[in-house]
Amino acid sequence: EFRAIAIDGPAASGKSTVARRLAEDWGMTMVNSGAMYRAVTWEVLRRGINPSATGEVIALLSEVDWGCLVRNGQTVMQVGDVEPTMKQLKADEVNGAVSLIAAIPEVRELLVQKQREFLTKGDLVMEGRDIGTVVFPDTPYKVFVTASEEVRRQRRAAEGAEDAVEERDKLDSQRKASPLRVAEGAVVVDSSELAIDEVVAQVKDELIQ
Ligand code: C5P
Repeated sequence: EFRAIAIDGPAASGKSTVARRLAEDWGMTMVNSGAMYRAVTWEVLRRGINPSATGEVIALLSEVDWGCLVRNGQTVMQVGDVEPTMKQLKADEVNGAVSLIAAIPEVRELLVQKQREFLTKGDLVMEGRDIGTVVFPDTPYKVFVTASEEVRRQRRAAEGAEDAVEERDKLDSQRKASPLRVAEGAVVVDSSELAIDEVVAQVKDELIQ
């Protein structure tokens, strides 16, 4: 029986860094579920499909062989024979469309199933928006990382990303399918005023209690 640590939170909350550190320190596999939603979005855009054309997006899901694996600590999504790079998955066009794609229930169903398959292979730290609420609702290890809007905007700007973080968070929180929520039983950590080491230490403390 493998264990899953669920890390959820809005964009630029610091959840990826926390997830990566926990996985390294505790020898678990880290899975970035956002990369999977980004890969579907990237393929939608590459094919010239309008992200709002829900029917076409749904049809695409069964046209492509979607492979998902972790290699060298990176979550890799194979789109048929193609493997989009992290740089491609973080492109502005993908940032602008991913929340529309992630709001489609059929997309979520496909990716949640793939996310659950990771747990048959080993212990995991998985980060995303619905990991504690939907993907692994039964895990006792749930964390919700937040930060003020101001701090999140600064972090994104420091990364050089031209990303409408607020818009994405709004769509992610207001959608019908698996909206961003604090899962029942999750530990909430606000990273606004803390250094990353302090956040990691606080999360570890809560998880081993
Ligand atoms: O984590 P990241 O910011 O890369 O995620 C990109 C987008 O993918 C989110 O804004 C959200 O729309 C979607 N997502 C999701 N559920 C997850 C992970 C990501 O809906 N578990």
